[in-house]
Amino acid sequence: MIHRDCLNQTRNVLSGSNIDDASLESELLVRHVTGHSRVQLYQNLEVELPEDVWERLQQVISRRLQGEPSAYITGNREFYGLDFYVNRNVLIPRPETEHLVDKALELGRSYTRPIIADIGTGSGAIAVSLAVNLPKAEIIATDISFEALKTADINCHRHNVNDRITLLCGNLLEPLPQKADIITANLPYVKKEDIPQGSCEPRLALDGGEDGLDIIRLLCSQVENRINTGGYLLLEIGLGQKNAVVDLLKGIASVKDVEVIPDLSGIDRIVCASFR
Ligand code: GLN
Repeated sequence: MIHRDCLNQTRNVLSGSNIDDASLESELLVRHVTGHSRVQLYQNLEVELPEDVWERLQQVISRRLQGEPSAYITGNREFYGLDFYVNRNVLIPRPETEHLVDKALELGRSYTRPIIADIGTGSGAIAVSLAVNLPKAEIIATDISFEALKTADINCHRHNVNDRITLLCGNLLEPLPQKADIITANLPYVKKEDIPQGSCEPRLALDGGEDGLDIIRLLCSQVENRINTGGYLLLEIGLGQKNAVVDLLKGIASVKDVEVIPDLSGIDRIVCASFR
């Protein structure tokens, strides 16, 4: 079968199983088994797929149909225009988190040499995107999962920012050796009962307890003496959590202002608190 027919067949099977973005995903899966770049794939559309590659494609499609995300199958996910290695120890980076990076970059650009702490870094998507786009920033990235940090380390090396990102294992802000100017955190915020059955992603990265805010509350209780005067805390939150999180932040004595930024679906997604 030629590449064009494999692509079409894969797309039809995926869309028949109600997988959104079947076109994009079929391309990712075909490229994964062939090892082609996007350009190479389109240059090879009329070329026959070798039998063993076709068989690998069938295995990969069946994993996808059983619910495994394509990012875990291929080991890759694009975030902020960069290619990240991902595996089952880390949350798959989401496009809405790019708003958090946008805001952190805007704030970071007003410092000559910002000290940034990324808490619960997972794959390191936020920390690496910030390091790549703020060449003078010093970044400390923490995670409670050592396996997640190993994944982040691979991404720091992949994007040549390992000399400016220090990875530390520990609970939230506890491992920070110094105060930060900007703290970013995409912590687990999904309500325990809302975590999808059979989710392939680590519970540790999703489970925010009964109301989803257990970990965010804990971070807020640690933040005051870990952030510099004039600094910022940026949090990602979920649907319906804005009021609770804004109240939580306004309850911190040194918080000056709180700004909320919606994502492209209009959901209040990023909360940014400035500190005096
Ligand atoms: N946005 C993710 C989801 O809805 C959750 C990410 C998180 O808990 N930080 O699955």
